[in-house]
Amino acid sequence: MPETFSHQFQNELFNGKVSFSTGLFIDGKFVDGSDKTTIDVINPTNGKVITRISEGTAKDVDIAVEAAHKALETTWGLNAGASQRAALLRKLADLMITHKAELAAIEALDNGKTFGWAYNVDVTFATDTIAYYAGWADKIHGQTIETDEKKLCYTRHEPIGIVGQIIPWNFPLLMFAWKIAPALATGNAIVLKPSEFTPLTAIRMCELINEAGFPAGSVNIVTGYGQTVGQTIAEHPKIDKVAFTGSTLVGRKVMEAAAKSNLKNVTLELGGKSPNIIFNDANLEQAVNWAAHGIFWNHGQACCAGSRIFVQAGIYDEFLKRFTEKTKELKVGDPFEKGIDQGPLVSKPHYDRVMGYIQAGIDEGAKVHWGGDRHGEEGYYVRPTIFTETKPSMKIVQEEIFGPVGVVIKFEDEQDVIKQANDTVYGLAAAVFSQDINRALETAHKLKAGTCWVNCANQLHPNVPFGGFKQSGIGRELGEYALHNYTNVKAVHVNLGHKM
Ligand code: NAD
Repeated sequence: MPETFSHQFQNELFNGKVSFSTGLFIDGKFVDGSDKTTIDVINPTNGKVITRISEGTAKDVDIAVEAAHKALETTWGLNAGASQRAALLRKLADLMITHKAELAAIEALDNGKTFGWAYNVDVTFATDTIAYYAGWADKIHGQTIETDEKKLCYTRHEPIGIVGQIIPWNFPLLMFAWKIAPALATGNAIVLKPSEFTPLTAIRMCELINEAGFPAGSVNIVTGYGQTVGQTIAEHPKIDKVAFTGSTLVGRKVMEAAAKSNLKNVTLELGGKSPNIIFNDANLEQAVNWAAHGIFWNHGQACCAGSRIFVQAGIYDEFLKRFTEKTKELKVGDPFEKGIDQGPLVSKPHYDRVMGYIQAGIDEGAKVHWGGDRHGEEGYYVRPTIFTETKPSMKIVQEEIFGPVGVVIKFEDEQDVIKQANDTVYGLAAAVFSQDINRALETAHKLKAGTCWVNCANQLHPNVPFGGFKQSGIGRELGEYALHNYTNVKAVHVNLGHKM
């Protein structure tokens, strides 16, 4: 991992020696927003401005939609060959490999995640996702279907058309890749809005998209705020589908707007409050390590974070002791420093939100077992925090905190823990730790969650679908499943003999 490069990049960016575009990306060009206003992009380690990006408006979404429409009519959609789409995505993945350290440095700078994680996980996984869907682009096909009549019946999987995509700040590049890759593999044109807190990797990717040779208008990025640009995408009458990743609260608004406008197709990837269940017969060391990864990975800013840790009574005390030791070892600090496990939270509003939850836990009578306060004097750092002595109704047990805050809860038996684990409006992910494969699988099958991990946590792969039950979402990302989000099935009946 090129540590030196990351520091060099950070310094050069601040000294104005490295620059990249900061405009909206519409019809293959970087342009200012129609109101010429900008948004400050803040460094979460110190609250200082990194750079300013263009603020898009509803009018800019209209312009982007027109560019997408033009691309679908001329160079993209049904006008682009399957192998052409595959080659373009492969080229983009290759360019991401070439620019890997730079993309990781931008991500760490913008989001606050450590350079090491950004390099080894975010950029690697994002690149693998683009490469995976490059493989699908020329393997998208329908079926021929036999009927009793003398006719040929077949289906075609056609692009939906113009897709609006709205993404959050916790994995900015990864969410960008999860969204654009299946949409482009299937020939859709895109109007995407990154989070106003972390727009920089999406903007840098547009330069690579141009370099790869994607036709103008096939990908358009309108940076801006949710209530303006995001809302306009959700309610736009000429956008055929909206794919949203973010909070359940905003997901509901997106679905409402989609229903009220043109009843556009909707997929949602929303929040979670994932249970992590550790039975008496678990391998304790393995369970402790994965539980820490489950809740503290990406500073707890992961939709699938294992934020409710249920531990069976027989091992509760020993687990808590070892889990606390593991938590104490986590190093909080500058994301660009070697050996750091956790950087700052993404923004001041989010820092306040997480600290508010910690206070709510204290006010409701839970015990701060470890952490519970800020780290350092500046920036948005929160120390990894463990709560014990909670009650099921407490806010910190029910609501998504989206920070490095876990609750450790004692349980007696399988029936009890399954009931507690499923007692939430969410259903994104769950983990089970046991050396008895029957118990582990039986529990996994009874949990209401879109992903269940056995003896591991937070494991994701481009080939494997990911998405939620209940209020954690609608539809699946990744794997072959995500292709269904981006195609319309057309049935064709050809009369071969019946004369009317
Ligand atoms: P958020 O819902 O506040 O914002 C997400 C995006 O929606 C941002 O781009 C924002 O600008 C935009 N937005 C805000 N208001 C809007 C509106 N009225 N109409 C349209 N768009 C609007 O979420 P966040 O704080 O950016 O991200 C954290 C949330 O994302 C967490 O709840 C987390 O669980 C969820 N998440 C889910 C997954 C998943 O795959 N299930 C992955 C990552 C994050």
